[in-house]
Amino acid sequence: MKILLATTNRFKVREITEIIPDVEFLAISDFTDHWEVEEVGATFEENSLLKAKTAAHYFGIISIADDSGLEIPILSYFPGVQSSRFLEDRPFEEKMKAVLERMSSFDKPEERVARFRTVATYYDPLTGQSLSAEGVVEGSIAERISGDNGFGYDPIFIPKGFDRTFGELSDIIKNNFSHRSRAFHKLFERIKSEALP
Ligand code: IMP
Repeated sequence: MKILLATTNRFKVREITEIIPDVEFLAISDFTDHWEVEEVGATFEENSLLKAKTAAHYFGIISIADDSGLEIPILSYFPGVQSSRFLEDRPFEEKMKAVLERMSSFDKPEERVARFRTVATYYDPLTGQSLSAEGVVEGSIAERISGDNGFGYDPIFIPKGFDRTFGELSDIIKNNFSHRSRAFHKLFERIKSEALP
């Protein structure tokens, strides 16, 4: 069975194919270079369902989408569900600098707590069945941008138990316990036991 990954983010496609190596995934880029679904939902759940359902109906194939973001409790969970829209179209370097700037008056470890959250959703266009799963990784916001592995906010996020950012850790380490890895492993457990034939 082939499953479409409803994302144009090539880093996400690479991570997901490494996280779930025994499934044959297609990517939006196999069909078109022009794809955008406006993330109008108020939650990661709503946006991941919206992205999976839109692609599934448009391309006529079972689809999975993830919606993810960085949550910083001391900044009222900013950027959260706005993670992709925050300083949209600006380079990630600029977005990360803006986050570090907002964190500049917080230097106690408990103030720098942060987490990445992913909700991954499966949608079957024939049956209308959807299944979702969430994954979270706890950590903290680094003092500065470090490393160039991964993507997005990885160079300013230090996962709990490490002293380096996701940007400095290898893909293999990130994919072992990341928010995306946890969400996709849980989702595939659900698909195996609950997906309609
Ligand atoms: P979306 O899920 O594609 O809407 O992503 C939301 C925002 O969070 C984007 O700006 C991503 O680059 C960022 N993001 C999502 N997943 C990760 C990750 O694993 N590491 C770092 N940033 C991420």
